[in-house]
Amino acid sequence: MTLLKINNNMYRLLFILSLLFFFSCETKKSCEICSATGKLECEDCNGEGEKICNYCDGDGDRKCSDCYGDGEIECSWCYGKGYKSCSYCYGEGRESNGDECFDCSGTGRKRCFDCFGKGSEQCENCWGNGKLECQDCDGMGKISCKTCDKEGKVTCYKCDGYGEYVE
Ligand SMILES: [Zn+2]
Ligand SMILES: [Zn+2]
Ligand SMILES: [Zn+2]
Ligand SMILES: [Zn+2]
Ligand SMILES: [Zn+2]
Ligand SMILES: [Zn+2]
Repeated sequence: MTLLKINNNMYRLLFILSLLFFFSCETKKSCEICSATGKLECEDCNGEGEKICNYCDGDGDRKCSDCYGDGEIECSWCYGKGYKSCSYCYGEGRESNGDECFDCSGTGRKRCFDCFGKGSEQCENCWGNGKLECQDCDGMGKISCKTCDKEGKVTCYKCDGYGEYVE
């Protein structure tokens, strides 16, 4: 009688154990998405941990907003014309007595001293370079990827980083 009871219990235990074994085999699957590593390459940065800076397209410098990349801005003294009205004849080219103005040889114009007649002067914002160092990436052209926190890898969405998942 006692022996039979033990046997009964043994069977029950074995049954439960085999059931557990069966379930653990069935339910846990090795994750094929991440090859069971639990990590996936970050798609935002292609696994590099950093991305190309949007503001400078990876150049590290940006077009100067003052001169639009020309390095030169319109001369503020002559409004870009390269000359100023002759102050002696007030731009008439003639003196009050009708003689040709000796100061401007009758043209009524004087070359702009400030821009040497070019009509433009060097942009002070970029010192004539036409570009400025990009402040968003400190001139590096790349910024660290926030999606993966510079690691280049993110936690696998399928297995949550465990390498295996329950089906
Ligand atoms: Zn995975
Ligand atoms: Zn940049
Ligand atoms: Zn400039
Ligand atoms: Zn000028
Ligand atoms: Zn004149
Ligand atoms: Zn990333």
